[in-house]
Amino acid sequence: MADNSDLSTRYTRDVFIREAESMLGVIRSCQELEDARRALYHHVSDLYFDRLSETGKLSSTQRIRLRDCTAAFRSMLLPRSARVAGFDLVQALWDVSRGIARPDLEPGFWAEMIHMVRGLSGHSPITPIEEDDIFEELTGREAAQARSNELDALWSRVERYFSRYPDGLSDAARARRDARRAHVLQVLGGTPSEWQDWLWQRDHVITDPDLLARLVRLPEAQLDNIRRMRAGRLPFGLTPYYASLLDDDPEAGRDRALRFQVLPPAHYVESMLELRHQRQESFDFMREVDTSPVDLVTRRYPAIVIFKPYNTCPQICVYCQRNWEIEEAMAGNALASDADIKQAVRWIAERPFIREVLITGGDPLTLDDGILRHILQQVAAIPQVDLIRIGSRTPVTMPMRITPELAALLGGFREPGRRDICLVTHLEHPYEITDATVTAIDRLRRQGVAVYNQQVFNFFVSRRFESAALRMLMRRIGIDPYYTFMPKGKDETAEYLVPLARILQERKEEARLLPGIRRTDEPVFNVPRLGKNHVRAAQHRDLLAILPNGSRVNEFHPWEKNIVERSPYLAVDIPILDYLARLAAIGEDPDKYSSIWYYF
Ligand code: SF4
Repeated sequence: MADNSDLSTRYTRDVFIREAESMLGVIRSCQELEDARRALYHHVSDLYFDRLSETGKLSSTQRIRLRDCTAAFRSMLLPRSARVAGFDLVQALWDVSRGIARPDLEPGFWAEMIHMVRGLSGHSPITPIEEDDIFEELTGREAAQARSNELDALWSRVERYFSRYPDGLSDAARARRDARRAHVLQVLGGTPSEWQDWLWQRDHVITDPDLLARLVRLPEAQLDNIRRMRAGRLPFGLTPYYASLLDDDPEAGRDRALRFQVLPPAHYVESMLELRHQRQESFDFMREVDTSPVDLVTRRYPAIVIFKPYNTCPQICVYCQRNWEIEEAMAGNALASDADIKQAVRWIAERPFIREVLITGGDPLTLDDGILRHILQQVAAIPQVDLIRIGSRTPVTMPMRITPELAALLGGFREPGRRDICLVTHLEHPYEITDATVTAIDRLRRQGVAVYNQQVFNFFVSRRFESAALRMLMRRIGIDPYYTFMPKGKDETAEYLVPLARILQERKEEARLLPGIRRTDEPVFNVPRLGKNHVRAAQHRDLLAILPNGSRVNEFHPWEKNIVERSPYLAVDIPILDYLARLAAIGEDPDKYSSIWYYF
């Protein structure tokens, strides 16, 4: 974890006591803890009522923050919240109000509380883009022109952010990748025409750390991580193509997101090694074992199933949800038996309500055309299935796989009015998009195959406007943003986590500025066993507590709540202060993210 001492000095018990004097006074006036709980609840409710009864004192942003802080704070005061989360905020504030030592309360906690008090009092600092509301001052064409100028100014700020994130279509990136490709080819003994052959790429997947070290500039510690992975027989691999996307000067930071995609950090390696004999129990976050009614099938929703006939990929993503079952990059035994495939298809066919089949894995597009066709024909023969979805990262890891023949094969399963077929891929960063990606997507689109993207909003793609830049470019090359996933709270991938507040902030302050068709994705949190929960919908979750280290505890209500009774799911977030400290460590200005505290 990054050193957060700089930020920590801003957030201390003393600062909190100074700013929360009226709140602490309310607690001091009570004799019993439970009285204090009720008194605090009424205190913040009265504050809310009073501030909103005053005219003209609060800006609209401060009013919204007051509203949101009141709701969040009151939720944390409830006895049930304290019981379920295992931490009582009222007890902590009671101790502080009486000068009792609470060494367990860390800067992350004080930071949350200080911002909460500022929000509740209507004094949270805001940084408006424009001071005046032009529609109050002007009307008609004059107002329209002033508004247009305002929008120009706003977008010019956005463009300045975009310019920080180079994509793979710039001349400079093309030149770098040309040189990198030549180097990779020379080490692997391939030719430029072999490079374009996906079978050559597949046959040369790099799993050997020493070979990788000859292809890619790696720090010794990083290389050691990979050696330990391999010695522990854990999956690791990347394609020669993807290796060519990694820069010779990693210190420039352009390829940071790409490196962290495939090069496992130390903590991940240690966790995987420690628990390698119980991978299913330890890493199956989504509890797929509990949602697989028959081999090769996972079902979380009424009208769609996941079908996994092929259990390997040419490249292993570090934070793969299926890191508990993928054994090896391009494992030789990854294709399910014909009998198992037939059994799974029969099971789906017997379920009249299943209209959509997501074929994923593993990466099914690393199968030969003939095998793929055979599987698709069986699925397409199910009368009630009217959409086949392919989950594949090959447009990113091995775009030459999308040959004209493969695109035609996929497109051939479209029967307008009867059945459609689409592909969902997994781009993370604009720097992953190259001319080869453009060609791959174009081939699919020309065959009528719509292409969507699911992004995992991990730490390394979470800077201001970084994901917005990806959405802008994806749409330009024909990909619709579909989902943005909160990284799963898996301990082994702790370095990748971002606080929920950041994804909400990104949606509101960055994605919201993009034209509508470029922000079609929905940020979601995957609830184990049950599936996606829309994080923007306040009715989908409650804040129960802020723990002593500053972690928020959210109670997620599964998507089917209000339709059937379902138990909620408790998720402990990472502290916002730690996240900001890590951003600072890679050169970001935490103050540019300061509104993050007011997203709940
Ligand atoms: S492509 Fe998908 S299934 Fe394969 S390793 Fe990456 S995340 Fe996992």
